[in-house]
This record gives sequence, structure tokens and C-alpha cells, in this order.
Amino acid sequence: MKKKIRTVAIVGGGPSGCALATLLKRKGFKVGVFYLEKRPEIIVGESLVPAIVPMLRELGVEEEVKNYSTYKPGASVWVNKDEEATSPFSFGGGSLPPYAYNVPRVKFDKTIFDNAVKEGVQFFKFAAKIEQVNGSDTLKLSDDTIAAINDYFEGQPDLIVDATGRSRTISRMLNIPTRQGYRKDVALFAHLSGAEKIYPYNIHLHRLEKGWTWRIPLPDRISVGVVINPEHLKNYGSTKEEQYDNYLKSDETLKKFTANAKRETTVMQYDNYQLISDYMYGPNWVLTGDAGGFLDPIFSSGLFLAIKGAFRLAKTIEIGTDAAFKQYQKEQMRELRVWQKLVDTWYSGRLFTLFKVGQDRMDTAFGRFIGPHMQKHLTRIFTGEAVYRSYSRSFLNFVTGSMIDLMKVGRLHNRKVADLEIK
Ligand SMILES: Cc1cc2nc3c(=O)[nH]c(=O)nc-3n(C[C@H](O)[C@H](O)[C@H](O)COP(=O)(O)OP(=O)(O)OC[C@H]3O[C@@H](n4cnc5c(N)ncnc54)[C@H](O)[C@@H]3O)c2cc1C
Repeated sequence: MKKKIRTVAIVGGGPSGCALATLLKRKGFKVGVFYLEKRPEIIVGESLVPAIVPMLRELGVEEEVKNYSTYKPGASVWVNKDEEATSPFSFGGGSLPPYAYNVPRVKFDKTIFDNAVKEGVQFFKFAAKIEQVNGSDTLKLSDDTIAAINDYFEGQPDLIVDATGRSRTISRMLNIPTRQGYRKDVALFAHLSGAEKIYPYNIHLHRLEKGWTWRIPLPDRISVGVVINPEHLKNYGSTKEEQYDNYLKSDETLKKFTANAKRETTVMQYDNYQLISDYMYGPNWVLTGDAGGFLDPIFSSGLFLAIKGAFRLAKTIEIGTDAAFKQYQKEQMRELRVWQKLVDTWYSGRLFTLFKVGQDRMDTAFGRFIGPHMQKHLTRIFTGEAVYRSYSRSFLNFVTGSMIDLMKVGRLHNRKVADLEIK
């Protein structure tokens, strides 16, 4: 970054872009956001973690979000069809509120957007055209774009922020190498009426014979998503609607909860979502939210990371030095890596194995000693706190790693337990 940043063009008016715009405007920057008004009927990303709530308060939107959302006190996870573990967020202890919300995303995005408007952020209702300067890594808004915004920035903005989510505008333009996750699942989701809930407000997660599913209670609907290998999905039809409907009817677990349900929306499909750009800033640009990287839907980390990243980036822009941007990138990458480790324990089955082994040992002295501790730190995966508490991270590494191995070879545990991997 060559000069002091005063003007910032943000491309993409989703939660990360609008939150960043609000924070920068409060700090006195001249900010313009390019956004697309047309939104899909439903948008994925409806389950929030408690760790996001303090940031909603700081933005000044929690009350509004609360008015149209489902209050969520915890998470319920099914290891298989009949075995379930529920964690109220309050088990996590710590400094976070013991609740979060399930949000209808279209409304949630509008709240963050309206808040930025209220703060005086300037919005432009079209996609900015970004160009490379002489084929280099330096970027600029095209002359057409500058003309269309009546030279709002009085020349080029000092900084261009890519907040275009999984469109990844700058990463694609500059061919930034990516790190891709090993899972190649597809997520299909829709809103249903009449689907059964066991714990009325909790997020419900099921490990299935193939893949996994979420049920997120919203005020008048239930969001049901399946995350599954696309090859397997082909057995259920050729369109995403056929695949979704037939899968719900055929899977033993899903049919139990959706037998009387009616699909109220189109089916949305998401793939290639485990994708992280190898670097996140350049001479006059920076990536935020999903545009920089997104891991996986499990554990609902996406919006938390997108908004937390916006807070971190606002501070970075205020400092404005190259070292500050380097630090921003380092912290973003580190946070994604830590979440990735947690995500891995879900797909490898280590988390489920731990649950089974734990159940088996609960009435022993060792079980009674470690049980409450385990409950607390496992709950912190669902509240988001496990990511920034180094003790929780180390403890979870240990219990999902060497501790299970020790138990499985029989030194602490007399029965062999196979890892309950997600297929
Ligand atoms: C299957 C799945 C399930 C998920 N479930 C959850 C969950 O339960 N909880 C959770 O917290 N997260 C979840 N996520 C992740 C979450 O949806 C994202 O992390 C979050 O939306 C990221 O916010 P963002 O602002 O970075 O990007 P987005 O929300 O994608 O916003 C980007 C915005 O940029 C706009 N845009 C795109 N291109 C342009 C352009 N050229 N010009 C102008 N505007 C443009 C788009 O229209 C959009 O409004 C899930 C993701 C997937 C794939």
C-alpha cells in the first residue's frame, strides 16, 4: 500500500461488504459499495453462531435481527439414526452469549445493508468493472465505471475491496492460486413446511449413511440441506429438484423427519465451496469474506468469519501500512486453518467416535473426571469460541487425536471403536 487510504471501493454488498462499509464510514473514510439488487429467493447461511452476536451488537443490528429470527439456544447432533447429543450453548461457558439466531438470510442481508445506508454509505446499484493496470497486480475501476458513479472517488479509489463472495472476482481475474478442500460434496437446500423438529429452536445436524444433513428452524419454515457426494446424488434424478426430493424420501433418517413436509421454495445448489485464495491482498486491493476463502457449511462458521474479517479489515485499513495488510492476511489464514481442523474432525468421524467412546466411559472415574470438561470444550465448537481459545484448541486436538488412538488400541478402552467417518 503506497499512500494513506482515504477512499475505498467495495465490490459486493453482502454481509462482509456492508459490515465493512459501515465500520469504515464510522471511521470517516469515503466509501462506495457496488452491489447487485437482485437476490435469489433463498440464500444459504441461516444458522449463526453465538460468537457473531457481539459483532451484531457493535454494528447496532441485534435487536432488528432478533425480531424476525429464531432464537437458538443450542445444537443437536445425531451420530446415527437414533443416537443424539444436544449441547445448549450455555455448556460452553466463557464470555459469549449462550444463544444465537437462525436468520432468514434475505432479511438478514437487508438489515446489514440498511444499516450501512443509515450510516451514510454510498451504494451503486451495478457491478463495478475492475481492470488490471498494464497487466500488473495493480487494479483500477474502468473509465466507464468511474463515469457511471460521477467520479465519486475523485479519481481512482485508494483501495478496492473484493467482497463478492464465492464469485471471487479479483482472485479469478488475477488467477490467484487456491487451496482446495478434499471434500467434493454438493449441498442442496430448500425451505420446507411441516418438517419435524425435535428441539424446536436448535440447529439439527445428522450424520447420514451418505453425507450429512441440516435442519434449521426458521420462524415459519425449516431450512433443510443435504451435503453429499455428487456421484451418489445422481442416483436420485437428473435435476436438482428431483435429486433433493427423492433423496429426502429415500434416506432412512430424512424420511423420518420430512414425511409430512412440503417443499415451499426452489432447490438451491452449491458446490466447490472448500476454496481459499493463497494470498489476500495486493498493491491496492484486498479480499474479505468468502471472496478470500470459505471452508465448509458444517459448524456455521461462514457469516461469523465474514463479519469478523470485516472488523479486522476495517482496523487494517485504518492503519493502512503494508505490514498491517500482511498481518490481516496472516490472521485470516490462521483462523481458516483452525476452523479447517475442526471441520476435519467432523468428516473423519473423530468427533462422533469421541462421543461414542465418551458414552462408553462415562461411568468410570476417568469418564467422570474428563466428561464435564469435554462437554464444555466440545460445545465451544458450536459457539465459535473453540477457535480463539488456545486451551480449547489444544484440548480438542488431544481428545480427537491421541486420546482416541490410545483408547482404540485398548490401553484405556477395552473395545475397538471404528471411526465413524462421513462417507
Ligand atoms: C452450503 C452452504 C451452507 C452454509 N451455511 C452457513 C450457515 O449455516 N451459517 C453461516 O454462517 N454460513 C453458512 N454458509 C456460508 C455463508 O453463506 C457465507 O460465508 C457468507 O454468505 C459470506 O458472506 P460474504 O459477504 O462474504 O459473501 P455473500 O454473502 O456471498 O455476499 C456477496 C455479495 O456480492 C454480490 N456480488 C457478487 N458478484 C458481484 C459483482 N461482480 N458486483 C457486485 N456485487 C457482486 C452478491 O450478489 C452478494 O450479495 C454456508 C455456505 C454454503 C455454501
